[in-house]
Amino acid sequence: MKKNLARTYCEYVLFADANVGPNEADSVLFGVRYGGTVSFRKGTENGPCAIREESWNFETYHWEHGTDLEKSRLFDAGDIGPFKTPDEMATSVCARAKELAHGNFLIMLGGEHSATPPVVEATKAKGAIVVDAHLDFRDSYHDSKNNHACATRRIAELVGAENVHPIGVRSICFEELADARRNGLKYATSVDVREKGIDKVIDDALAAVKGRPLYLSIDIDGIDPAYAPGTGTPEPWGITSLDAKRIVERLAPELVGMDVVEVCPACDNGDTASLAARLVREALAVRMKPPIGK
Ligand code: MN
Ligand code: MN
Repeated sequence: MKKNLARTYCEYVLFADANVGPNEADSVLFGVRYGGTVSFRKGTENGPCAIREESWNFETYHWEHGTDLEKSRLFDAGDIGPFKTPDEMATSVCARAKELAHGNFLIMLGGEHSATPPVVEATKAKGAIVVDAHLDFRDSYHDSKNNHACATRRIAELVGAENVHPIGVRSICFEELADARRNGLKYATSVDVREKGIDKVIDDALAAVKGRPLYLSIDIDGIDPAYAPGTGTPEPWGITSLDAKRIVERLAPELVGMDVVEVCPACDNGDTASLAARLVREALAVRMKPPIGK
């Protein structure tokens, strides 16, 4: 049954199969309830709760990988936020992420994309793949460097522009394009994905980004609005939900952290939060897979 669009996401539920406490965990999930700099449709701060609710829809067994999330060691650490300013958000997210990282696979549910760079910093990732419709390479926007339109720029400052690779891009302003060229930022557009195929685009991204360990940031608007309509700044002509699955599937074994951001429940019929939850579960299921040869 579809969710009532008017519903509020105030109740607290754990992410499905988050069955262990912090001491037994090898994976830790937390949410950032922040949407203060979103530039169009509002409500992104309610993303974490909506994604958790939708996470209960799925089978625990993952037939493609032969793994069962009932046996996963996932701890749901709850949410942080709301925050008064983007700077307060960035400082608080970094501090919380540092508390939770500690060798765990760290998963952040957004909230807006400006929450990503402080998580990348906390995980000590040296490379990042970003799924996004937008290049997010503005130096600042609306007087803030921690605006969601600057997420990839801030990640590039942490790991080097050569170690960040957005996929699915199709919305770029002229200044961003000039800055991206000057900084040596490589990226794949959604048209590249259609013409070359997602596996070739992933191969090229992994070859270009030398830094390890890797972080994966999924701005849900990178996926076409046909699959992910519930987001603040939807952009037509995106990658498919199966392209996104393939990115998660291939990168998951070497990730130190990931996030899914920019889900906006007020614009959603439930399907966008459902896709976000499923992408997180895909990463967990792949990571449970026994190493090759065992
Ligand atoms: Mn973004
Ligand atoms: Mn975006």
